[in-house]
Amino acid sequence: MDDAKMLELAFAFHGHRCPAMPTGFRLAREMMRRLSVERARDSELLALVETGADHFAGCFADGVMAATGCTLGKGNIRRLNYGKFAVTLYDPGRKMGVRGLMRTASLQASMGKEFFTKYRSQGVPASRVPLEVAEPLIRNALEAPIENLCDIGEPTEMDIETPPHVFSAAPCEQCGEMVAESYLRLKDGRKLCLPCSGYAG
Ligand SMILES: [Zn+2]
Ligand SMILES: [Zn+2]
Repeated sequence: MDDAKMLELAFAFHGHRCPAMPTGFRLAREMMRRLSVERARDSELLALVETGADHFAGCFADGVMAATGCTLGKGNIRRLNYGKFAVTLYDPGRKMGVRGLMRTASLQASMGKEFFTKYRSQGVPASRVPLEVAEPLIRNALEAPIENLCDIGEPTEMDIETPPHVFSAAPCEQCGEMVAESYLRLKDGRKLCLPCSGYAG
């Protein structure tokens, strides 16, 4: 599938048109090119996104997922919750990775635009921002030279632990619900799910 088609799907999946999602998409694509890797069908790639859950431009992470094939369901994406607009893309097979981020100057310039000052920072959801306000930023995210939008490091050797998938599961001895084996916790001689055990992790 070509980038244009994949980006169209990414917008549909994401739910609204905003600049952060396509920026994440383009950044991740460029990082994949520099790392010489294809979109992950299984777990050939791991993405470590540095965004958090509750701030503007966190949409960046959905662009990374769409571009790389690193998804929540496959478990090959981790959110580090630093509140930063950065991602490390790691190839476990070669133990090589690269880190990229939205450029400070570019992000600050965007934050000075009406899209942020008049709408997003006033609590208006991205889908409710007038098109004529949002589209110039989206077009910039889609068309500006990537080096104006993002900074990308050199691919370097890294060693990030990627545990193998667990294929066994058993019922929690309290609630009876199935739990992947490695997530069961032993409490007072019984194997319990995390919520029943009261343990944090
Ligand atoms: Zn968005
Ligand atoms: Zn339970």
